[in-house]
Parts: sequence; C-alpha cells; structure tokens
Amino acid sequence: MTSYIPPSKNQSPYLPFGDQRGAQFYGKDILSVNQFSRHDIEYIFGVAKEMREMVTRIGTFDLLKGKILANLFYEPSTRTSSSFTSAMERLGGSVIPINEVRYSSVSKGESLPDTVRTLECYADVIVIRHPEMGSAALAAKYASKPIINAGDGVGEHPTQALLDLFTIVSELGKVDELTITMLGDLKYGRTVHSLSRLLTLFKVKLNYVSPEILRMPPEIITELKSKGMVQAEYNTLDPVISKTDVLYVTRVQKERFENQDDYESVKGTFVITPEVMDQAKDKMIVMHPLPRVGEIAMEVDDDPRAAYFRQMESGLYVRMALLAMVLGKA
Ligand code: ASP
Repeated sequence: MTSYIPPSKNQSPYLPFGDQRGAQFYGKDILSVNQFSRHDIEYIFGVAKEMREMVTRIGTFDLLKGKILANLFYEPSTRTSSSFTSAMERLGGSVIPINEVRYSSVSKGESLPDTVRTLECYADVIVIRHPEMGSAALAAKYASKPIINAGDGVGEHPTQALLDLFTIVSELGKVDELTITMLGDLKYGRTVHSLSRLLTLFKVKLNYVSPEILRMPPEIITELKSKGMVQAEYNTLDPVISKTDVLYVTRVQKERFENQDDYESVKGTFVITPEVMDQAKDKMIVMHPLPRVGEIAMEVDDDPRAAYFRQMESGLYVRMALLAMVLGKA
C-alpha cells in the first residue's frame, strides 16, 4: 500500500513534469506586489492571455472543477468581487460569497483569524477585502490555504495592480520607457500604492499629480527612490499631460477622510474632459480602477484612448490566472 505524500509547497501535483514554471505559486498567498519579480509577471500575463483566449473561444471550462473560493468582503466592491466570482465560475469552480459581513458572525464580534480559520474548512482559497492595512497579511498568518489580498484599507491592492499592468501591456505593447502620470487621491488610493511599487520592476517615469493634502505618502516615494524610480510631483496636470503615455486617474477616497470638510475641499479638483484629452498624445491611454465619481467626464468614454472599460475586463483574465496558479493548475 502506498501512502499519500502531500506535494511540497513548490510542487504542484497537477502539472505535468517539465512544466513546473507556475509551481512556485502553488499554495501561496498573494498579499503585496513586492512579492513578484519581472519573470513572475511575464508568467502571470502568459497565463492571463491563455485565459482570455479560452473565455473568448469556449466561455467556461473545467480547470478548477470541484474547487471552492470564499469571497470575504468587509468593504464594498463591484468589480473585484464579481470578477473573482466570475473567474472562479468560468474555471468550473464555485464560490462562497460573503459580501455583507453584517449578516455573518463578524457582526457578532468574531475576529478575522477565527473567520478565516472557519472559511478555510470549507474553501480552497480565500479572497479578502478589509478596511485595515495589514489585514490580509494577518489572515494569511492564521490560514494554511492561500489568501488573496483584494484591498487592505489604504495599503495595497495587488491583483488590481497586476490587471493595470496587463492593460498597459495589452494597450501599448510595452512598459519600459513609458511616462505614467497618477492623478487624484494618491494618499489614500491603494491602487496607486500597489501599481507604483510594481512599476519599480520596469524602467518608467512616474508623475504624481494631486491636491496638496492627497500627495503620495513620503514613505512610498522613499521606498521607490531606493529602487531607482524617477518620480516628480505636481499640483496641476498642465505641465505633464502632453508628455504622458498612461494617465492613471483615481477617485478621491471619501470613506478614508476623518474630516468631511477636507473631502469637500478637494473632491472636484481634477476632471478629465475632451479639452484635457486634446492636449494629450494620440497614443496616450486613460485608466481608472473605477468606480469614478466625476473625475472623468462621460464624453471621454468614446475616445479610443479611454481604456478604463477594457481595463476592468482584464481583471477577469488576470484573476483567473492567479486562481489557477495558487491552486496548482497553471
Ligand atoms: N476599486 C478600487 C479599490 O477598491 C478603487 C476605488 O475604490 O476607488 O481600491
């Protein structure tokens, strides 16, 4: 009788011998973009492209049949939550949705470690969004199943950064040598915290345009500088718009302000209109993690350079790739 020997953390039981490139992700958490190398990104994007092809050709298939995802959202979400659900279901798996923690035992005071330990009894992977920075890492400490950070307060949103980068590559065919301008709430916006960090793997120039009180946190600027990133800060878009290849617009994060008067004072500072687009390069793309609440006028939507709807579609393919990888099937 042979006894069952569980695969080691780096060895997927499902992958054919000789194709273990994605095996390093098997059973792993996805907590921060800092865990990825350029080589990893290339691999993830290769899998995401295959997912895009498969969805286009056949829609739903059985790669993760029998696997279960717990989608644990302590904060509102439309795209992240539904794209993870769609990703799991397109791969043939199923989902335990906990979108409204008010109706779960969390409202009885259950701690995050206990909630996570519960869910991993029923699921193979847990996606978590939480208002506190570091919460995904805390969950990962207590879970033995993979934890995927879907936004931890003002901290990080690594799967968003991956899909943002995937969009840039799909739209412009490269990342190196681009000038990327991040606009809006750079203080509280976790998507720009993750994307700027991920971009340190490439040779780009980063411009930050924000109201004074919403500047990119100094500790992130210092972190990026130590990795050689060229960065510049502005309080208007005018000096940089004509030199920008990617304009990454963000929402002012109303829910993070302690003082609502401060929010009111900055909320409509930047609005991308057709007139702003007139000053931009013909090949520039406009991105936004969405939701938008007035930062991009709807008249811009028909401009071929408006990439934000294509960007959210990328989320499906990148999240399919990540789920397949952490579950040892890619
Ligand atoms: N959906 C993104 C996030 O969860 C961006 C936003 O909410 O403004 O961070």
